[in-house]
Amino acid sequence: SAEAERIDGKAFAEGLRDRVAEAAAAFTARAGRQPGLAVVLVGEDPASQVYVRNKGRQTVACGMASFEHRLPADAAEADLLALVETLNGDPAVDGILVQLPLPPQMDEAKVIAAINPDKDVDGFHVVNVGRLATGLPGFVPCTPLGCVMLLRDRLGSLSGLDAVVIGRSNIVGKPMAQLLLAESCTVTVAHSRTRDLPEVVRRADIVVAAVGRPEMVKGDWLKPGATVIDVGINRVPAAEAGKTRLVGDVDYASAAAVAGAITPVPGGVGPMTIAVLLRNTIVAAHRNEGLDFDE
Ligand code: NDP
Repeated sequence: SAEAERIDGKAFAEGLRDRVAEAAAAFTARAGRQPGLAVVLVGEDPASQVYVRNKGRQTVACGMASFEHRLPADAAEADLLALVETLNGDPAVDGILVQLPLPPQMDEAKVIAAINPDKDVDGFHVVNVGRLATGLPGFVPCTPLGCVMLLRDRLGSLSGLDAVVIGRSNIVGKPMAQLLLAESCTVTVAHSRTRDLPEVVRRADIVVAAVGRPEMVKGDWLKPGATVIDVGINRVPAAEAGKTRLVGDVDYASAAAVAGAITPVPGGVGPMTIAVLLRNTIVAAHRNEGLDFDE
């Protein structure tokens, strides 16, 4: 059979950022200020530093204001909570993102709970988790929302499709399952205790892998023609000694021989996350100014 279509998340994310930039310009003209995103980084985690730099760059490139705040790795939790309080009260700040993970002396749940839910563009606050679960407008975590955008772009209506989400984290798996349920899929959530995972995956029209295990999902687990969304980002040793490369949670080569469409790693889900964050910030800005926003 033919090779699966490669779902180009990088191109989709570029298009989304273009639409965000247009919306940001229109917002600025109406509101007399730019939409603003504040990102807080605690400590020097190298991966987090890269993310925060990219977020800042893309925020500015879309015509929005970027506010970066850095705290030392040994900062007290109270210092971070005070900063969040300041950002909650700052009318120039529409979205607040606290980069995770936080150092061990800080309680992540407590810090997220301190963010004003209407500025919680990451969608991690329990109020937004509850809004998603009950079908109220709120903020949805960026990575799973990006996955649904790619699925809708490829499949149109998802209604009635069998979807299997592998992984049940608060950041990806659970919100992904909620979003697919809201799209009227029949949703199965698999995890480390699931019995006979290949058999569960074989039922699915849509497979979302968010596990963190390199190339775990194999082609012979898939229903022919299934749409595969690979959220995994795993660094593994490359053929050349001392070098590394990125792979997903899906074994791309064997999966692409069976699937109808599949996201590559890199260039699939990864680029969507920041683009969706910027989109969420535009939505927040309109809500904060009481303006309508038509996507
Ligand atoms: P977590 O480690 O929080 O969750 C992993 C989930 O996978 C858990 O629910 C776990 O089950 C399940 N799991 C682990 N092993 C197995 C197994 N053998 N069989 C079935 N299920 C298993 O990871 P995240 O959700 O945060 O991230 C998942 C992946 O997505 C990672 O590779 C991460 O790097 C990537 N990621 C990519 C993003 C992006 O593209 N921008 C953003 C966020 C994450 P249990 O609950 O039972 O332990």
